[in-house]
Formats: sequence, structure tokens, C-alpha cells
Amino acid sequence: MKSARTFYRSQRVVTPDGIRDTHVVVEGETIVGLSETVDARSGTLVDLGDAALLPGIVDCHAHVNEPGRTEWEGFTTATSAAAAGGITTLVDMPLNSIPATTSREALATKAAAAAGQCAVDYGFWGGVVPGNQGELLPMVEAGALGFKAFLIHSGVDEFPMSRREDLARAMPLLAQAGVPLLVHAEKTDHEGEPEGDPRRYETYLRSRPQSWEVEAIRMMIDLCREHRCRVHVVHLSAADALEDIRRAKEEGLPFTVETCPHYLSFAAEEIPDGATFFKCAPPIREAENRERLWEAVESGLIDLVVSDHSPCTPALKKLEAGDFAHAWGGIAGLQLSVAAVWSGMRARGMGLDVLAERMARRPALLAGLSARKGSIEKGKDADLLVFDPDATHAVTAEEIRHRHKVSPYVGKTLHGRVVRTILRGETVFEAGGAERAPSGQRVFARR
Ligand SMILES: [Zn+2]
Repeated sequence: MKSARTFYRSQRVVTPDGIRDTHVVVEGETIVGLSETVDARSGTLVDLGDAALLPGIVDCHAHVNEPGRTEWEGFTTATSAAAAGGITTLVDMPLNSIPATTSREALATKAAAAAGQCAVDYGFWGGVVPGNQGELLPMVEAGALGFKAFLIHSGVDEFPMSRREDLARAMPLLAQAGVPLLVHAEKTDHEGEPEGDPRRYETYLRSRPQSWEVEAIRMMIDLCREHRCRVHVVHLSAADALEDIRRAKEEGLPFTVETCPHYLSFAAEEIPDGATFFKCAPPIREAENRERLWEAVESGLIDLVVSDHSPCTPALKKLEAGDFAHAWGGIAGLQLSVAAVWSGMRARGMGLDVLAERMARRPALLAGLSARKGSIEKGKDADLLVFDPDATHAVTAEEIRHRHKVSPYVGKTLHGRVVRTILRGETVFEAGGAERAPSGQRVFARR
């Protein structure tokens, strides 16, 4: 008779209370407890040896682009890459799919597109755009986990930017619903063409200064104070904004911030001319800025680290021309995000507990999913990542499961290997193994 219980033993189980040598006891889809000793006759013992056992990673910032721009990426390929990268929950951004997820109807369209295709669990952010206030609460009822807005051109015409007065109309509604407003925080009155040689990265970098982020973040702190609506700054690149964020948090405002693996992995000085696969907005900045971001990741001033996987077709990256001015801005890195962040953490003396906190527990909290996701604790879903933190490997295009293999991580040597990814008790990825049938389900918030 097949036993219903599985005991996952590791010398390094990463829990919210620290790293322990213990067994994680799983029954069906759920973690039913942690135990130093188990009676192996009452279940199946899986000894992971010195491989670490982490909570499945929660990536609450990915652009899957389906329906409408499925040639850029899609649910099958994105979630397969997620599983291979140790991610067990993915939250999709309201753009660059068509329609953009800015109405209840569009949310239903996207949910229908995703159903049955996903290798990991998934949820959806909605979007705030000028004039769609009437759709916001219906979208919350229909399962939107929160909303994203842009303070600058979003890159696609279906998702117009919001002005201060647009946000002032939306924020009281979001505060009432208890969902966060996620903001692309760059603001300027003057978004022109970069001036100079378009093949040089520096030309692009100079065209999007830190002051754009600082100005946007100051406005969002004001609006957060005024409306007491949770505000979350996505993909912070400018370390110059950290002081304002620190003061907002000290004031007790419900204000959080994320950064992304590419801002922590790369430096402007090292980006070759024409290497447009490094283009994103806000831009990757200098090494000195990167180190200030890392300090904030370590201290917790930066709450979470998520991929901002934003792929497109290779043609849109203008690789042949190497034209930073006209290439699509977005980095493809979903599958490599955990190894990239871990490589940086390891080099700076941070532990796996920090990795789990920034990439699993905090993102789950932001998305309202922490009742089930984000940590190894009794009662949570058995979403687990078996991880060899000491393994190294050079990233190849062949291993990448994204729809397109263009990524700045190709050729880079990273620490940390995803050995196995477990979703609600079932293995959904095993290194060297075949692809599994999709078993991901949609997730909803419990607030
Ligand atoms: Zn994004």
C-alpha cells in the first residue's frame, strides 16, 4: 500500500526560523509539519543529503505576454522555465498581453488563456490605467492580486501611463480592497531620444537618470501617505532613492520595494557596445550603484527580489544593429533568476535564509498568497526547491526554456543548481529529467 506521507530530509532546511537539519513532512499537497525524527515505516523517506531544501520561489513579476504577444513568450514556455528555475508560483503582469489586463473581461480572457498550460501555480496582477476605476473592484472580486501602474510610457500603447490625478482616483479603491498598487517608478516631463551613439550603452544609461526614479518615488510616498494605500515600487534600479524609501518605512507607511537579478548581477561599465539584450527600464547602472542595492537587499530595506522577466522576439532586440535606442527594453532571465541572485548573495556572504526571505516569503506576502505560499511551515502548500548551493555551471542557450534563448546570462558562470522542484507535493522539474505534464493551478489571495 502506498503511504500518503513523504519525509524530505535535508541537513539544510531553510525555514522562517533559520536553517535546520530536519525532515519536512508532506501529506498530499501540504506540509503537515517539521520533525527531527520520523518513523520511516509510516511513509516514504527522501534523503536529500547535503542538498538544501528551500521553499518554492515566488516570482511576482513576470511578463508572460499571452494572449496577444504569444510570439514573445507564453504560459507553457514561461512556466516550464520557472519550474526549471526553482519557481513554484508566478504572478503575471497586466501588460504586454493583448488585451492588457485592465478590465474584468480582460482578466477572464487571460485566465482562460493560461488554464491547463502552466507547469507551476500562477496568479494575475491587474492594471490601473486612466479611466478604468470602475473596473478595479470587480477585478479584485475576480481574483486580481493587486494592480500595476506606470508613471511613464509603458512601452506598449494598450497600457497608457497614469498621472497623479489618475492614481488619486484609484488609490482609495485599492486601499478599501486591501490590495497593493505596484508602480513603475520613473517620472519625467521630457522623455526624448537618447543623444549620442545609439550603439553605446552609456548613451542609453544617460537618457534615464536616477533622478527620474527618485522623483517618481517621492510622489508615490506622498500619495501613499495621503490615501493609506499599500504602494510597492517595482524594479528599483536607482540606489539614490533608498534614503527616501528608508524614511517612508520609518514613518510607518505601507511602502515596499523590489529589485531584480539583472540590477544585482551586471554593471553598466561592463556592458559591451551593441549588447542590447542588456536593455531594460530603468537601466542597469554602475557597479557602485549595484553594491548599494546589495546592501539594501541584505538589510531588508529592499523587501524582495523578483525576475521582471520581460522577453520579446529576437528581432525586436535589434541585435544586428545593436541599437539601444530602438531595441525593446526588457530582460529575459526567469529561469536563471534564483541562481543569479544566489551567486551574488554567496559572493557577499549572505545565506540561504536571505534568499528564501527575499525571493519566496516576501513576494508571497506582497501578493496576498502567504497563507499557502512562500515558506516551509506547517499548513502551507508543499512547494519545495531542492537546491545545490555549491554547484557551478556556465549557462548555455540550450538549457533555457523561455520561448527565445536571448538572455544576458548566457555564458555567465553561476552558483547554485536547481536539483528538483516540487509543486504541492509533486515533482514538476528534476535536473536531467523529462518535461512533466502541466499541473499548475491559479492562486487567489487570502487577506
Ligand atoms: Zn516588468
